[in-house]
Amino acid sequence: MTKGHCLCGAVSWEYTGEPTWACYCHCDSCKHNCAAPVTAFIGVELSDFQWTGKTPKFFASSTGVKRYFCGTCGSPMAFEAQHYVGEIHLYAASLNDPTQFRPTFHVHHSEKLPWLHLNDDLPKYPHSFE
Ligand SMILES: [Zn+2]
Ligand SMILES: [Zn+2]
Repeated sequence: MTKGHCLCGAVSWEYTGEPTWACYCHCDSCKHNCAAPVTAFIGVELSDFQWTGKTPKFFASSTGVKRYFCGTCGSPMAFEAQHYVGEIHLYAASLNDPTQFRPTFHVHHSEKLPWLHLNDDLPKYPHSFE
């Protein structure tokens, strides 16, 4: 069981098994949603996932997209989209133990901030990886 939580602890989640993928996202929407220069995501099957604690709120940043957040402290909690059927995308920094995260690629690398320097040899996709 892998677990994560928001800043205040009201919203938490857990999943069983292994994530389907793990990556960095440099897109402009994630930057503004997380107020962070880069976001680190874990892709998890919805069937392996559940919210624990309070039910998060969500903002529909575009049609069919839900960006979940804690209604108490405002921490971003998850991304879910109609075009990613059966998946939920969790923020690696919300993990109870974020050191266990092992990213394997970058997406939307064309939008990477010029002042952000990440020294890795991972594949860097200019847009999404589909
Ligand atoms: Zn919270
Ligand atoms: Zn993004």
